[in-house]
Amino acid sequence: MTTDTSPRGFSRRALLAGTAATLGALAAPPLAAPARAQARTDRPIEVLVLGAGMSGLTAALALQRRGHKVTVIERQARIGGRLLSLPLGDGMFTEAGGGHFRSDMPLVLNYVRHFNLPLLSLNDGLPVYMVDGKTAKSADITNWPWDLTSEERNVTVSANLNRYLFRAGLDTNTVLSPDWPDQDLLDRLDDITLEDLLRPVGASPAFLKLLAANAGLFTPYAQTLSIIPDLAYHFGDQNVFRIQGGNNRLPMAMANALGRGNIVLDAQVVRIDQTGPRIRVGTKDGKEFTGDAIVSTIPFSVMDEVEVTPAWSAGKARMFAEMEWDKTIKVIVKTREPTWLAHNVRGWPMAGGDRPWERFIDITGNEPGGHGSGFFYLNGENADRVLAAPREVRAQQVVDIFQQDLPGLLGDVVSVSDFAWSEQPWIRGSFGSTPVGGGWMVKEWTAPEGRIHFAGDFTTLKTGWVEGAIESGLRAARQIDPEARPLSGAR
Ligand SMILES: Cc1cc2nc3c(=O)[nH]c(=O)nc-3n(C[C@H](O)[C@H](O)[C@H](O)COP(=O)(O)OP(=O)(O)OC[C@H]3O[C@@H](n4cnc5c(N)ncnc54)[C@H](O)[C@@H]3O)c2cc1C
Repeated sequence: MTTDTSPRGFSRRALLAGTAATLGALAAPPLAAPARAQARTDRPIEVLVLGAGMSGLTAALALQRRGHKVTVIERQARIGGRLLSLPLGDGMFTEAGGGHFRSDMPLVLNYVRHFNLPLLSLNDGLPVYMVDGKTAKSADITNWPWDLTSEERNVTVSANLNRYLFRAGLDTNTVLSPDWPDQDLLDRLDDITLEDLLRPVGASPAFLKLLAANAGLFTPYAQTLSIIPDLAYHFGDQNVFRIQGGNNRLPMAMANALGRGNIVLDAQVVRIDQTGPRIRVGTKDGKEFTGDAIVSTIPFSVMDEVEVTPAWSAGKARMFAEMEWDKTIKVIVKTREPTWLAHNVRGWPMAGGDRPWERFIDITGNEPGGHGSGFFYLNGENADRVLAAPREVRAQQVVDIFQQDLPGLLGDVVSVSDFAWSEQPWIRGSFGSTPVGGGWMVKEWTAPEGRIHFAGDFTTLKTGWVEGAIESGLRAARQIDPEARPLSGAR
């Protein structure tokens, strides 16, 4: 099994240099916002947190502030999990994983503010669509060539979607509450795809294709329950940002606040034994840890590599086996200039279609450097096609098809590389979500297994979002200590 997580086209040295640059930027103590006073527990315990991604670090910090002894055990030699920022040269960074945040993500904003991290503003999507062989810009709304209904004409994809959600008894605000959905709604939305939900309230097949071009080809066929919060982020808020110098500055700052001595890197957990009075955790290289409780953020996609005693309950074993994992590939492009702006297309996404390039996401925004920065965001069969091609050409071929389909948008390309999430041995996928009929998992992931508590964005319906990762880390921390709180802010 390879453990090399270098993206194709980036040398390992460049990657490490980028990490060092990020570390350098953090060498000065962060200008933390004053933390609210937090009463300490009079019954401290020892907690082992498995995984140093956003959910694990959130849980660890919340429990440490209550006075518990926390040790984070991380399989990789790096911190941040699916927040992985890669240097593009000229002071620019791209994001292999979590790429952007929105202003309706209060937890993310709290943590970014707490560490005083600088933000770059990005543009929300004003894409060019290429669907069914026809091309039109979303800005040129009166001339769309698709077979839309009369009420779908002259209205953006976002406004149409919000109208249909309203008709179906939903909206893009309430679905983001940590308490959403109640049992009735869960039962109603569990067994249907988004297409099943939207067609009866008037959505045409042509509209669904445009929606897929804008939000990802999987969108209409995803389980309604798990796709609705995703749509709320994409179509409920237009304010998009990322962290200057790389989004992984956030987990790095959290790790520094926790104390690097409390984090053990390069330690793959392979064994958990909770039969004795103390839980015992063993790593692949023979280290052993003991504790009173565990927060596991190990992605369910690689849980088969962990041996537990006693064995997982039937519900947990079924959940680990049946959760569905996407295999996103990003084809990362740096251009001489963000040429597409002159064509009046931009943002998240700048282009979307039913073509092998699927979507191009422009993350340039106001990043200094003057170049254009973006990536093709490929899933499903588009990701399969790239994975099946020879490594040396697989990223470039995507760019070539795009250049033929929509000439002139990218202008001069400076560099092309790719990052394939299914090739990362520590997760073997990108996002875990509930399949159609998988709503039972919501209760299952919330329930501890003995003294093991579960976190990770895949243990929320905000899967694929840092907001969900933080939310899950807080939930797991509160299961261990109900007084555990986020770093700052009220929730
Ligand atoms: C392609 C892509 C695009 C995304 N885009 C966005 C976006 O635009 N906005 C947004 O908000 N979010 C986005 N996300 C999601 C965001 O990155 C995640 O929500 C968040 O980083 C998940 O944090 P986590 O702690 O839940 O999981 P992870 O970050 O996956 O952390 C799990 C950790 O567990 C470790 N681990 C695994 N096995 C073991 C083991 N056996 N022992 C010890 N440790 C182990 C892993 O190495 C990893 O560090 C994106 C993700 C991807 C992949």
